[in-house]
Amino acid sequence: SRYANRVDTIIDVEGVKIGGDNFTIMAGPCSVENEDQIMQTALKVKEYGADILRGGAFKPRTSPYSFQGLGLEGLKLLRKAKEATGLPIITELMDPHDFDAVYEYADIIQIGARNMANFALLKEVGKCDKPVMLKRGMSSTIKEFLMSAEYIMSEGNEKVILCERGIRTFETHMRNTLDLNIVTAIRELSHLPIIIDPSHATGKASMIEPASRATAAIGAHGLIIEVHNNPHEALCDGAQSLTPEEFKVLNDKVRKIHDYV
Ligand code: PEP
Ligand code: MN
Repeated sequence: SRYANRVDTIIDVEGVKIGGDNFTIMAGPCSVENEDQIMQTALKVKEYGADILRGGAFKPRTSPYSFQGLGLEGLKLLRKAKEATGLPIITELMDPHDFDAVYEYADIIQIGARNMANFALLKEVGKCDKPVMLKRGMSSTIKEFLMSAEYIMSEGNEKVILCERGIRTFETHMRNTLDLNIVTAIRELSHLPIIIDPSHATGKASMIEPASRATAAIGAHGLIIEVHNNPHEALCDGAQSLTPEEFKVLNDKVRKIHDYV
């Protein structure tokens, strides 16, 4: 292969592998809202093929008046969903003050786009032994993105997963512009796994499956997809949330494409 000289980092999350030839799909709601919502959604995404459950407990909302997440209560509900499904959990850490709580409940610690250049936070997660998924800042170059990953690794934690979630451009039709070529760039420049978040990259449920198919075709290591048991009633990002049934269609198609390429 073109990358024959490099040893790709493969991260093991409770038996789920991320990196190398694996294609890992994380799915779940933007935010944990209540027990019924997270349990219903988790059971469905597990049934339909997800490898890891996502769900925000601490939410970086544009407006301080929007739902900010359930905090510790949300983490506890994620633990319940994990116990019911066996799916490992990814959830966001926004503030070093919440590190101990998030560390206790998360199997992968998510660093959001808004904190990609929060070097104090990056160093904090760099000192721990849990995998970290680092999302690309909305106006960050690939070089800046990789340097943020270095901030984590330079503290000793080499279990870093990169996530492209769309960048700011002049275009307004989509929430962000998906920079799909970053996958090839990262695979040339780095040993780290790179996954795509088409939910935040497009902002539109109808665009997520096509973007996911392209993600598998171009050689990414996986996806993170927002799925809600009732998108119309979501407290956060409903317009870009798939129903569990839509997620099933996506999952089946994308895995075939990955197997083919
Ligand atoms: C999220 O994944 O819920 C999120 C807030 O994404 P981003 O940090 O990419 O905006
Ligand atoms: Mn979201």
